[in-house]
Amino acid sequence: MSEPAIRKVCVIGAGTMGAGIAAQVANAGVSVLLLDIVPPDGANRNAVAEGAVARMLRADPAPFMSKAAAKLVETGNIEDDLGKVAQCDWVIEAVVERLEIKQDLYAKLEMVKRPGTAVSSNTSTIPLAKLVDGRSDAFSRDFLITHFFNPPRYMRLLEIVTGPETDAGLAARVEKFADVALGKAVVHAKDTPGFIANRIGAYWLQAGLNAAFDMRLSIELADAIVGPPMGVPKTGIFGLLDLVGLDLVPHLQASLTSMLPHDDPYHAVARSIPLIGKMIVDGYTGRKGKGGFYRLNPEAGRRKEAIDLATGEYRPTIKPSGLKGAVAKGDLKALVETKGVVGDYAWAVLGETLAYAAGLVPSAAADLLAIDNAVKLGYNWKAGPFELIDKLGAKYLAERLEAEGKPVPDLLKLAGERTFYRIENGKRQFLGINGAYHDITRAEGVLSLADIKLSSKPLLKNGSAALWDVDDGVVCLEFTGKMNALDGDVMKLIVQAIPLILAEYKALVIYNDADGFSAGANIGLALFGVNIAAWSEIEKLLAGGQMAYKGLKYAPFPVVGAPAGLAVGGGCEILLHCDAIQAHAELYTGLVECGLGLIPGWGGNGEMLDRARQAKMMPKGPMPAVAKVFETVSTATVSKSAAEAKELLFLRPEDGITMNRDRLLHDAKQKALALFDGYHPPDAPEYRLPGESGRTALNMAAEGFRKRGLATEYDMVVSDALATVLTGGGADLLDIVTEQELLKLERETFLQLVREPRSIARVEHMLETGKPLRN
Ligand code: NAD
Repeated sequence: MSEPAIRKVCVIGAGTMGAGIAAQVANAGVSVLLLDIVPPDGANRNAVAEGAVARMLRADPAPFMSKAAAKLVETGNIEDDLGKVAQCDWVIEAVVERLEIKQDLYAKLEMVKRPGTAVSSNTSTIPLAKLVDGRSDAFSRDFLITHFFNPPRYMRLLEIVTGPETDAGLAARVEKFADVALGKAVVHAKDTPGFIANRIGAYWLQAGLNAAFDMRLSIELADAIVGPPMGVPKTGIFGLLDLVGLDLVPHLQASLTSMLPHDDPYHAVARSIPLIGKMIVDGYTGRKGKGGFYRLNPEAGRRKEAIDLATGEYRPTIKPSGLKGAVAKGDLKALVETKGVVGDYAWAVLGETLAYAAGLVPSAAADLLAIDNAVKLGYNWKAGPFELIDKLGAKYLAERLEAEGKPVPDLLKLAGERTFYRIENGKRQFLGINGAYHDITRAEGVLSLADIKLSSKPLLKNGSAALWDVDDGVVCLEFTGKMNALDGDVMKLIVQAIPLILAEYKALVIYNDADGFSAGANIGLALFGVNIAAWSEIEKLLAGGQMAYKGLKYAPFPVVGAPAGLAVGGGCEILLHCDAIQAHAELYTGLVECGLGLIPGWGGNGEMLDRARQAKMMPKGPMPAVAKVFETVSTATVSKSAAEAKELLFLRPEDGITMNRDRLLHDAKQKALALFDGYHPPDAPEYRLPGESGRTALNMAAEGFRKRGLATEYDMVVSDALATVLTGGGADLLDIVTEQELLKLERETFLQLVREPRSIARVEHMLETGKPLRN
């Protein structure tokens, strides 16, 4: 029997979390009803929920992935619209963190919901048992906790807690929807205070604060020690508190101290810090307030200042010293053994936090995987506590704790001389609480390139790319350079791969595990060519890239691009040459060359023109398509989601979108296999382009931008070069421009621009600062 699907969701509470969760449900293409209270003045009874949606439409980073998604949110209020819950398959409660308000709401929900409609709470702190107190058995069977993290679109962690009464099938249904449709990485937590991520996070923050105050450390040094060397974002502890708000500290402390059992080690670290209390009272609550531990001093030209923990006064920030070599690169043992404050602080934070985390298995989490996943996803750590212990050595940690008279958690004793993770027969395994190693298994529909790499060798490999057999006749092209930049080696590998795939495989997927698919051409290399005036080398790079990409386009097997994150410039152009795309929902793609004083040079212009003229609703004649591409490319527009990439024509309407990053490779592989039977490569397009008159019209449009101060003089030069290519150079409307002719024009125009000093200045500036130069 097939399980009932989740087709409509109701979110109650349109605050920070509820509104963000509703947006993510809508991003998944699912209708959502968003309810909140009727405001006291009551003129517009839906004002609270409507206001939340309006705010989200203006917010940056955007909670919605597209305007179409926002239309899937229906707003209402709990007095008039609670009856509509009967049409919903899942109700998510995200009202204020007050037990009696939540319980009162559940009592009302029980009267209107269908049996089998899941109800979940987004509570951060209240135990499930208390939430369902007083409700019927039937309600308890349908109830669970789903703890989202802020902001719900971007934070992947979802902690799920079920009670003894919760129906397993219903919980599985919610979990599957959260995973596949909402893209969440689900971690099962037990019904213990703070669940997993925040419980460890709160302990870590407190340990970090205590030691820094006790040692009177500069906060810059504290954050530098706790940040990148430990694989933690560079905000460290003080920067993170500024980000989330200092007022969270007493709040978190009060709730954890009131709920955690008396023998929990948290009680020994929890202490109120007078300076934080004073800062909150004075409005220094962090970035949302007048500043926090760090501030930009408005009276000193927005100079960056940091608070001195000893005096409580602000002073200009100082660059921390003492972190060099292996210590800065993440050698944890060297870090905690460093003599002086660096090593002392590192040990004070790390030793205590890792011991605390190790003590939470199995009371708060069934196994160490749940702990590591929760902390990595909830706090953006590169490695989880147990992965960090492996770097330090479980034995080392246990001995040092023992030497200091501190308790050694059972799991640490169990590990003894062993590591918590190991690789055995090409499989990654973890140490279970029974003392044996277990394979780390993936859910159905999850394929990991990292797993494949553990058990196989690449079919081809060079310094910038590799080719992997991902089974079932599909191979995967992976970029491996810094920021997955593209260069001659990538093109060489593509050219080598084509006959190999033709002879032995069915299809190609272009995918990598990195956060960003590709930052585009390796502009450092290109700049080097410019500096030594190696124009023929640059031309070779252009022609080589064009040839490799067209080779993929016309290869007699399907090619599917599977990008996630950033895919710009040449990284966008390779996608434009694929037969189909399966994109992660978080796709930031675009042709950004004009921002660097250049134009797309690897066939992107022709591919975009082809897309545009085939786009639905595109008016007839050559000019509308050309104008659309010109508008997108001359402004270096980058999509803020895969849905937006469709609107911008970087993706086709039929391209697939995968919400869960972990499922992307599998989905792309399925797409490639589906295209295999009866596959024919596309025919080469022929263009009719508007020529000189079209170019004039585009330049007039660009001039309008310049007059409004939106474009510089030099932008006019660059956009004219783009206009020249898009309109076919000197072509006449009656002429047919072939794909090869357009590629030649693209190369010639690119080569003119790349010699221009102001283009070179833009490229240099980007390399030095990572930011565009508006010259
Ligand atoms: P919030 O204060 O931003 O929003 C709460 C909303 O609930 C408000 O819009 C309020 O009008 C509404 N509300 C109050 N009583 C209501 C009722 N009876 N019916 C309907 N709506 C009602 O709070 P938030 O930060 O969004 O937190 C909501 C829940 O999510 C809490 O349980 C909180 O612990 C949890 N949570 C918060 C975060 C976070 O980072 N803010 C993270 C995870 C979980």
